[in-house]
Amino acid sequence: MAEATPRSAGRAHRRLCVGLTGGIGSGKSALAAMLAAHGAAVLDADVVAHELTAPGGAAIAPIREAFGAALIDARGALDRAAMRALVFAQPAQRLRLQAILHPRIARELQVRAAAAPGAYLVLVVPLLVESLARWRAEVDRIAVVDCAPELQLQRVIARSALAPDQVRAIIAAQATREARLAAADDVVDNSGDLAALQRQADALHLRYLRGI
Ligand code: ADP
Repeated sequence: MAEATPRSAGRAHRRLCVGLTGGIGSGKSALAAMLAAHGAAVLDADVVAHELTAPGGAAIAPIREAFGAALIDARGALDRAAMRALVFAQPAQRLRLQAILHPRIARELQVRAAAAPGAYLVLVVPLLVESLARWRAEVDRIAVVDCAPELQLQRVIARSALAPDQVRAIIAAQATREARLAAADDVVDNSGDLAALQRQADALHLRYLRGI
């Protein structure tokens, strides 16, 4: 296993910075909660992305400038439905949006990381592999929570009101299981029960404490 050299978001405190990802329903949040309970500093990139695109968020003005007022709703937030329709019709627009959002998300995570106590830092990034090159520059290691798509489907349906076809569509739109595994430094197999996930969280925590 390669030695990790702390940089970027983790560098402020010279501590290891782990990017944690996985498909919808894979168990990212469950694993992140276990690592947080062990004392890791855990931050969620989606939470930051939502704040940046909420009314008054720092990404609203640049989004309006790049895409026009039609992408901003009456409350002054990013109109997610309009943006989804746009990037579906014109995939290149997604890159423009990411070019606006990603640096701001990364910067805000660095600010929050500096104020977050913990022996190491875990950034939960649901779409990490979808923007792999950008995130690789932000984290020392990539941890992937892995399970079969059928299990993701079951878990998401059990916890939400989404219909099976909606969940299948989300899974199909995300990076493939293979792409995620190819990007992983650490793979957490979440095809077992929560006790099995906890055992892996315990082992991973000890490794991350040591800095690898
Ligand atoms: P993600 O954050 O990747 O979308 P979650 O951590 O929210 O996924 O997990 C999806 C759902 O499945 C949650 O309700 C969670 O409690 C449950 N879950 C996760 N891992 C397991 C497991 N090993 N056994 C049973 N339920 C699980």
